[in-house]
Amino acid sequence: MKSIKDIYIFIGPPGSGKGSLSHLCKKNFGWAHLSTGNLCRQHIARMTDIGVQIDQILKSGKLIHDDLMIAMVSAWIQEVAEHVAGVILDGFPRTVEQARALDALFSQDFFAQASITVVAMHIHDDHILGRLKTRFVCENESCQVAYSYTSHESCLQLTCKECDYPLKKRTDDASDVVYERLKIYHQYAGTLLDYYKNSWHKMITLNAELPLENVFNSFMQSTGK
Ligand SMILES: [Zn+2]
Repeated sequence: MKSIKDIYIFIGPPGSGKGSLSHLCKKNFGWAHLSTGNLCRQHIARMTDIGVQIDQILKSGKLIHDDLMIAMVSAWIQEVAEHVAGVILDGFPRTVEQARALDALFSQDFFAQASITVVAMHIHDDHILGRLKTRFVCENESCQVAYSYTSHESCLQLTCKECDYPLKKRTDDASDVVYERLKIYHQYAGTLLDYYKNSWHKMITLNAELPLENVFNSFMQSTGK
């Protein structure tokens, strides 16, 4: 079994460009990108042991327990490690409890050679609200490249430059929903970042208000890629 070399944990508010940066890393370095939402849906569709459990939990309206999330993330990393050198965890962990559970996982033999980097993306809320107003994303679930257009009309005719699927406005990019998502983010992000500042992992901070190219360049500089 091949072990994984690089693990990146992306932490940033919605609209900070985590998805776009992940996409560039996938394209340039061939890394794999984990979205826990997509992973849950895949497990349910494939009716794996984990999928059956998640399906029951979601149907009963309960939250997925951290242990189950960790089991799922662990299985995913070990699976993709066969093909890729690096993985990006985007949107997970969200809580200090999850971060602790993840660190317990990383202390296992399989992860002995792995270097873990926490990537904190800094951006002010005002900047995000302005950015999300003009954001359109590719409809293709496995692509989801984001574009910025100021006119809604013109973008309705546009398709994704990567995969040719149509572009759509995300329903959770509406201002009131974004306020709510930012509020939730600020509730958990501070303690999570504090936890990582005091951990043994490497931590880098990126100015996510800069254009994506610059963010990617400073990511490469800080990580030595
Ligand atoms: Zn696309």
